[in-house]
Amino acid sequence: MRHLETETFIYEFQHELRNILRENPEIETVNHLEGLPRHFLNKILAPNPLSVFIPSKYGGRGDNPAHCLSLLEGAAYESIAIGLMLGINGSLFLEPVAKYGQTEAKDRVFQSFLKNSSLGGLMITEPDFGTDALSMRSSFSESDRGYSLRGSKHWGGLTGLADFWLVTARKGEENGNLKRDINLFIVENSQPGQKIDVEEYYNKLGLFLIPYGLNKIDVTVPTRSKLIPHTSGVKLLMDLLHRSRLRLSGIGLGFIKRMLDESIKHCQQRYVGGKNLLGYDQVQHRLSQLQAWYTINSAMCYYTARVSGVENNLTSFGLQANSTKAVLTDMMQSAAQSLLQLTGAKGYRRDHIAGRAVADSRPFQIFEGSNDVMYSQIADAILKEMKKKKETNFYTFLRQFELTKNIAGYYKQILDFNLDPESLQRARLALGKMIARLITTEFVLDLSKAGFRTDLIDNAIQVVGDTIAEQATSFTRLRKIHVIERYRDGGDWKILGLNQSK
Ligand SMILES: Cc1cc2nc3c(=O)[nH]c(=O)nc-3n(C[C@H](O)[C@H](O)[C@H](O)COP(=O)(O)OP(=O)(O)OC[C@H]3O[C@@H](n4cnc5c(N)ncnc54)[C@H](O)[C@@H]3O)c2cc1C
Repeated sequence: MRHLETETFIYEFQHELRNILRENPEIETVNHLEGLPRHFLNKILAPNPLSVFIPSKYGGRGDNPAHCLSLLEGAAYESIAIGLMLGINGSLFLEPVAKYGQTEAKDRVFQSFLKNSSLGGLMITEPDFGTDALSMRSSFSESDRGYSLRGSKHWGGLTGLADFWLVTARKGEENGNLKRDINLFIVENSQPGQKIDVEEYYNKLGLFLIPYGLNKIDVTVPTRSKLIPHTSGVKLLMDLLHRSRLRLSGIGLGFIKRMLDESIKHCQQRYVGGKNLLGYDQVQHRLSQLQAWYTINSAMCYYTARVSGVENNLTSFGLQANSTKAVLTDMMQSAAQSLLQLTGAKGYRRDHIAGRAVADSRPFQIFEGSNDVMYSQIADAILKEMKKKKETNFYTFLRQFELTKNIAGYYKQILDFNLDPESLQRARLALGKMIARLITTEFVLDLSKAGFRTDLIDNAIQVVGDTIAEQATSFTRLRKIHVIERYRDGGDWKILGLNQSK
């Protein structure tokens, strides 16, 4: 009963959101440096969408992964930025608090979200430590007042706007060094001694309604505010990030579905050379790619709904989560680029969904783990596994590997080659791209077994085949390169041209 009721709630929330955005286009077209003004936020948050992420024990809608994904999908179909705003609150704040928070802190946080439409976010990144987050310099010390945190954090989504933050820091030792492990603390901005100062708001390129900036951390929080890891803090962080990366599939699906619907609608209506755009082979190619991405993304959601409940420990789900994150966000950006290409100049406007989509989807390839790094790590993990098994043939390995054993057979001709574990980083990146696509297309086979449309499944498998074939070709043609940093010496055509004309 509650299940059905939440489905209806999500459906109605999406329709209400559509109306709000239609009546107030400035929500998305104006660059809100300090975030969306509160009266707009109040309209969006009035039905209490974030209750979906809150356990029923605390008065929420139960934090069912399928509902969370469905809420993110519905919101992101209307606005990717609003989808992300809900995702930040759910995956990066409410769920980690529900799983690792102390009871007293949870009571405060969840009541505040349910009664006051509060917002929360997560601060990991520092100006000097982004990809290399584990080396962060923010520190904490313990006293009878609780925990005192000091440091500098930037790019935390909802900077200056969130009422609650999860702040990451390492324990300071007496000799001035920092311990390796990382801990997370709930900071409640409205409480004395807990205000996080914003030193600068960033003039971001997209996602206009979410504020970003540079924050100075100098706060003291009570003992109850520390999250309690089950083993180590780094493992807690891995569990959190893997869940969040998988859950991005909800935002991705809403976004890609919108790109697909907008593309089809536009191509039906736009006549060029006496026929509508659907009549052109290249246009059909773009649309079939979009449709494949829609299917793959649906499979990611189907997988994520089954594994990502907070009761599961996702620490060891690196390959599944990182593959999903990187493939998904590449598909999102390509989908946006395709829609913009198809809409032509008409789409190159901030007040057109196509132009907006390109800028808004781009940072998904950067945050929560840069895709370049994700692919490279995926390849490293597989090469290590192959070495352990003393296997050099890629196809033979994939046929036996749990996450690719069914899909590998579809692409035997492309995958049947030997690997050099000492290969260049770019070769590993290409390899990581192939592996990530294989892992996520294995999800497509699961979706197929569950009864998804076979023509959509067949198309997805075909499109992935084309992509990995391209990657396999580039892989064998890589040569060692080195950037010529002083390229201007002898590298200016004008000097040569002027000498000749003398
Ligand atoms: C819109 C947006 C929202 C964000 N939201 C949040 C948030 O809510 N909370 C938060 O804490 N942070 C957030 N971030 C920060 C984000 O997580 C970091 O930007 C990201 O981790 C990358 O760190 P960096 O920007 O310092 O880049 P760097 O670490 O300097 O990396 C830059 C690039 O260098 C290359 N690179 C780095 N290392 C390697 C390697 N080992 N191999 C190959 N190439 C490499 C990659 O191409 C990488 O993209 C957000 C960022 C953006 C843009």
